[in-house]
Amino acid sequence: MDLTEKDVFGVDAAASLVKNLRGTFATGKTKSYEWRVSQLNALMTIITNHEKDITDALQSDLGKPVMEAFISELSLFITSVRFTLKGLKSWMMPEKVKSTVTSFPSSAEIVPEPLGVVLIISAWNYPFLLSLDPVVGAIAAGNTVVLKPSEVSPATSALISKLVLQYMDGSAVKVVEGSVHETTALLEQKWDKIFYTGNGKVGRIVMAAAAKHLTPVSLELGGKCPAFIDSDIDLKVAARRIIAGKWGLNSGQTCISADHLYTTKSFAPKLIDALKSELNKFFGSDPLKSEDMSRIVNDKHFARLRRLLEDEKVSGKIVHGGELDEKNLKISPTILLDVPEDSLIMNEEIFGPLLPIITIESLQEAFYLTNAKDKPLAAYLFSNNKKLKEEFIENVSAGGLVINDVGLHVCNPHLPFGGVGESGIGGYHGKFTFDAFSHKKAVLKRVFFGDASIRYPPYTPGKLKTMRVLLSDGFFNMIREFFKA
Ligand code: NAD
Repeated sequence: MDLTEKDVFGVDAAASLVKNLRGTFATGKTKSYEWRVSQLNALMTIITNHEKDITDALQSDLGKPVMEAFISELSLFITSVRFTLKGLKSWMMPEKVKSTVTSFPSSAEIVPEPLGVVLIISAWNYPFLLSLDPVVGAIAAGNTVVLKPSEVSPATSALISKLVLQYMDGSAVKVVEGSVHETTALLEQKWDKIFYTGNGKVGRIVMAAAAKHLTPVSLELGGKCPAFIDSDIDLKVAARRIIAGKWGLNSGQTCISADHLYTTKSFAPKLIDALKSELNKFFGSDPLKSEDMSRIVNDKHFARLRRLLEDEKVSGKIVHGGELDEKNLKISPTILLDVPEDSLIMNEEIFGPLLPIITIESLQEAFYLTNAKDKPLAAYLFSNNKKLKEEFIENVSAGGLVINDVGLHVCNPHLPFGGVGESGIGGYHGKFTFDAFSHKKAVLKRVFFGDASIRYPPYTPGKLKTMRVLLSDGFFNMIREFFKA
């Protein structure tokens, strides 16, 4: 980025952008059901008309195979738009709730209202989905939006910018391309919501900027997602699913891929053999040449992963793979066994095709080890054991859990997707995205009839006594039954 370009989008440009969007929001046009539907349909048209452009961009940024791009980005996006179009009318309706004796007689409802002007900052690893899926919820909720896609995936960012300009209402939905300079200028503005996807270090920058204006945030962060592998499993199926959720998802550059596995010492050799055998079927004997696995996004991330492998604490621990092709930014599926807890690979999110397997006495011990660390975005258990599954659900704290698969919870729009603790704040997907961009306005409606003077001064002991009776559960239930009858 040269100086001239920097000058094009700085604090002044960001301020004027927000001012214009506030003007659009004030007209009320983004609140109508028709406008929201028209913008959701525009997003659908983008997919229909430009699927090949999108998969080409993903190929250029990440070497993403077309099938993988379809499964992990396009199909999830299409599902999200369809699900939102189907539910939108009912989601926008006020939700009637019960009244209490304190406000009797009255009616009460929760009215969802758009927050206003929202900022979405997204990450590079699923650059299409992570940019536009939050936009689905933001416009469905009736907001005006600025999207800042990641500069690390420039082809997809440029395409999104072009297509949004071409298909969407430019007075309400804007894309700002750029990196730290542009994002910093945007973050200086007052937003009604900031939705950020990326690492926790920048998450803290975003939250600090938001705090200046008391702006609410959703932070979709990462972490080290563990998978616990019991011996009571269908080993072949488990191996295939672990591979699909690790190497088959963007070469492990996925916030919900299995970061490391825990299993018992006696089961580890069988697990490793099964993984090797299925890896060979998936990616062949020379996986660096496989076209079915994405590459590492750039030199910086390649060097980061190499550093994890070159850490002397993991020397001699590689039991499979470990080949690097720097020119093509490819790393073969790599399995390491029993790396020490204080190695680099066990202390930062791996976000690549390296998989440490740690042997322990029991999976309960691994649950305990996991809970002693930062809460992960997801955790996985492979087991047929009913009691172990219950213990896993009850005892392991993570953004989400999946039993007998890796990462599949993201496909279910009825489930909230998000982190807890270090892995993030706030969930989305399906109606949860609509909720993330809505304020739930409490509305209480009274009439002039039945104005009880008991609540007004002068206060007397008699009034207090009567009030105690009126506010008791038994009395209110009696009144409710009376009106029901
Ligand atoms: P990234 O480098 O694309 O950064 C994310 C966004 O932050 C970009 O738009 C970038 O421009 C902006 N940014 C970077 N530095 C900034 C700064 N100093 N100030 C302001 N903005 C800045 O992506 P990343 O952080 O490398 O993404 C990978 C991380 O994101 C991993 O930790 C991964 O687990 C997490 N992630 C989480 C989810 C989720 O849904 N929870 C999804 C994908 C990735």
